[in-house]
Amino acid sequence: MKPESLSPMTWRFSDRAEQLQSSAIREILKITMRPEIISFAGGLPSPLTFPVERMQAAYESVLTREGKTALQYGPSDGYAPLRAWIADSLSTDGVHILPEQVLMLSGSQQGLDLLGKVLIDEGDRVLVETPSYLGALQAFSVYRPQFVSVATDDDGLVPSHLADVGQGARLLYSLPNFQNPTGRSMTLERRVALVDTCARLGVPLIEDDPYGALSYNGEPLPKLLTMNPGGVIYMGSFSKVLTPGIRLGYVVAPLPLIRKLEQAKQATDLHTAQITQMVVHEVVKDGFLKEHIPTIRKLYAAQCGVMLDALAEHFPAGATWTRPQGGMFIWVNLPAHIDSMALLEEAVANNVAFVPGAPFYANAPASNTLRLSFVTVPPEKIREGVATLGRLIAARC
Ligand code: PMP
Repeated sequence: MKPESLSPMTWRFSDRAEQLQSSAIREILKITMRPEIISFAGGLPSPLTFPVERMQAAYESVLTREGKTALQYGPSDGYAPLRAWIADSLSTDGVHILPEQVLMLSGSQQGLDLLGKVLIDEGDRVLVETPSYLGALQAFSVYRPQFVSVATDDDGLVPSHLADVGQGARLLYSLPNFQNPTGRSMTLERRVALVDTCARLGVPLIEDDPYGALSYNGEPLPKLLTMNPGGVIYMGSFSKVLTPGIRLGYVVAPLPLIRKLEQAKQATDLHTAQITQMVVHEVVKDGFLKEHIPTIRKLYAAQCGVMLDALAEHFPAGATWTRPQGGMFIWVNLPAHIDSMALLEEAVANNVAFVPGAPFYANAPASNTLRLSFVTVPPEKIREGVATLGRLIAARC
């Protein structure tokens, strides 16, 4: 049977669904799966860092020791020992995070959807960085907010801009560490100002932090969460420090919000897989991440260095780019007349891919921008791919 003959009905979708669109990035990723393509497009962590044997041993021991529990339904808020471990790892000398403040998620992406569900009514003003994480824009837009773009520069979000746009906003979504897509981080001064301003305006502040642990030079700056645990919603993930395929993340928030998020989660998927949480707890409980994360940082720092050198060598004057101190992405600004979407077509024809910057903007997209991911491509291919891009850009200058 032909696929089209399976569905003679004309489907009528909800208004909400009508406005959904596939992520531009996922569509591009489909093309870039071809083996001959040098892809700087994906946001995937390097599989070289996946602790496969460690995970295998943990599955084995959890199933042997507590197989019946691991394979049973579990609580909606998550596996208690893992929640306690997360609360402990986020607590500092001055700030004590309770295990009850941690809700386990099926990937932190789920948290973005749940936060949209419980916090955003149609037309609410939602503040986002310029540019911001595309997956958050997608998740929130289902709830039909009015996005308001907050200015950013090389030091991250500019808190003084909130004086103009922050009043009456429903929430602010921020990425203080090694932002996706720009790789930028907020300075300490900016963090203090941001937390103070949001507290003064009564605007809840979401801190999305999947890359925070991937700092190339020692410990990252303090989390917004620890600066104001009563007003900050923190989102963490095991995707970039263990593996993304397990789909495990968490949200940390004041108790009334956690209870509401838990109700929303119950309706969505009952709970996050119990076996996954038990296995991850087994892996992390004795300090494995303390030895593992430095190996990821070292690899990514080296890969980033290779790409920065190649950009300096091959990109023409007029192009500028960020110099990340951690994470997985470099953001490029091309001369204003170059449209990176058109450049992508030509690049793919030359076996190189990247993500055009426009979809990362909630308003007024800058079409001369693009995102490069450097962690999954071997160094010699990084040099080759950047040289090709440099040639194509120079031809348009
Ligand atoms: N937030 C940001 C900024 C991300 O880059 C990603 C993953 N690309 C996510 C959230 C979602 O991560 P997870 O795998 O935990 O769902």
